[in-house]
Amino acid sequence: MPVTIGCVRVRGPRNCIPVNKFPAKAQRRKASFPLRLCAFARNFPKTLGLLVVFMCTFVSTQGKATTRVKISIPAAGQIKVEAEKLSPARSWSFRNAYAGALGIAERVEEFRAFGDSGQDALVKKSAAGEYQSELDATRISYTVQLANSRPTDIPHVSWLAEDRGLLMLADLVPVGVQSVSAEFELPAGWTVESSVTPDTNGRYEVGMPDKAVFLVGRSLRKASKSVSGMMLETVFNGTWRFKDEEAVDAATAVMEKYLALTGFKLPGKSVIMFVPTPVSLGTSIWKAETRGSTVVVLMDPAARVERWLGQVRVLLTHEMLHLWVPNALKLEGDYDWFFEGFTLYTALRTALDLKIIDFKGYLTTLAGVYDAYISHPDTRSLIDESERRWSSEGSQVYVKGMLVAFLYDLMVRKDSGGRTTLANYYRELFSGGVADGADGNEAIIRLLGSSPAGVEFTKSYIETNKEIRLEQLLPAYGLQLDASGKSSQLRVSSGLSEDQKQLLRSLGYRN
Ligand SMILES: [Zn+2]
Repeated sequence: MPVTIGCVRVRGPRNCIPVNKFPAKAQRRKASFPLRLCAFARNFPKTLGLLVVFMCTFVSTQGKATTRVKISIPAAGQIKVEAEKLSPARSWSFRNAYAGALGIAERVEEFRAFGDSGQDALVKKSAAGEYQSELDATRISYTVQLANSRPTDIPHVSWLAEDRGLLMLADLVPVGVQSVSAEFELPAGWTVESSVTPDTNGRYEVGMPDKAVFLVGRSLRKASKSVSGMMLETVFNGTWRFKDEEAVDAATAVMEKYLALTGFKLPGKSVIMFVPTPVSLGTSIWKAETRGSTVVVLMDPAARVERWLGQVRVLLTHEMLHLWVPNALKLEGDYDWFFEGFTLYTALRTALDLKIIDFKGYLTTLAGVYDAYISHPDTRSLIDESERRWSSEGSQVYVKGMLVAFLYDLMVRKDSGGRTTLANYYRELFSGGVADGADGNEAIIRLLGSSPAGVEFTKSYIETNKEIRLEQLLPAYGLQLDASGKSSQLRVSSGLSEDQKQLLRSLGYRN
């Protein structure tokens, strides 16, 4: 069960950032909480091999006025945006890079600006997505070309296909617009779905445009339900080899699991969108992204896939945890090792608990992650890796983060005779003990280091770069790593002690 993990991260994605080089240290603005996005894409042969693509962006906001925005579709693959009641300005900037999607501001065309009395201002374009007008303007209009999306950009940016599209305000309105009142003028038969509920006039009041995702198109099917008091909406487009109800059931089961894990009820509505990809994803079968309270799953309905439903269930175990971590946490800083690495591990545990995978699959996945880990040098602490991850090819935030979560889980289970697990710490994280705006690294390290062993553990594997050697660490827990073959194998040791049996049983081992 080989695991390939890669990620990219973009922060403060202004147009001045060269397309293939990001600054060494992103600017942090304390005034706003970061927006974190996660995309998770998988190739499934017959096993549970994972390809994870991640992106994060921190977006600052400025200005308080609500901008009224009308979005229409004047021609195939193109939208027109008319924005008014803007704060008076002479320059506007559109996001040009978003995770792996680069040059996206080039899609903005026919930019016009209007003065207070409606006069057409002279506008100059100084660079991709950068416009200046000769006078203060409070109204602007422009078109955005959304056809021909690059497969690598999916699902990170807005796109439009013949009968459907994803519209993300983050790349459709100028940077700095904080609050939007949006309306849509769509072709006959099209509808719009979003985590934002429209008012009686069909307007969408969006407090955080960078998090807003709108699915537009024909024949959108929707299922709404309450899951233990949380609103879950599932939107489908296209035809799939699983029933809508089966996907709803899968999402419901995962949502209940994560409510139990965190003890935290998500406020507002969470939406999961299943949408046919507008372009071939090449060797990938799907890609997904969790933005704010919206999970977008783009899949190729024609892909030759076994066990479609099983794959959807696994995908949801990862993406839906991001609705809580980090999206429902208001923590600052780069603690990506936790909200990605630990999420990978916790999603794997959840897949095992929900019987989506078995214990053998659990061990095989971890062995594959270990192979990925040792294939790259481990030269920095996880905290450093989290800060630099987007500027290097490293994937240690994922692979080492996941292995550290595994080892921490083993340690606390062993120390407690199987009564305490990593899962217990999620509940503590959401129980109000961590203040809004706290530093994520400090808060989570303090949480995990609540015992002397935990202090030593976090110092070694998170704050400094102690290498992980599973072949040396696992025998104490009744597990063995066999690295003699082409890929490593993780097996239960023979001659287990009673303590080891107890620990492994708590993990799901049943022999
Ligand atoms: Zn993720």
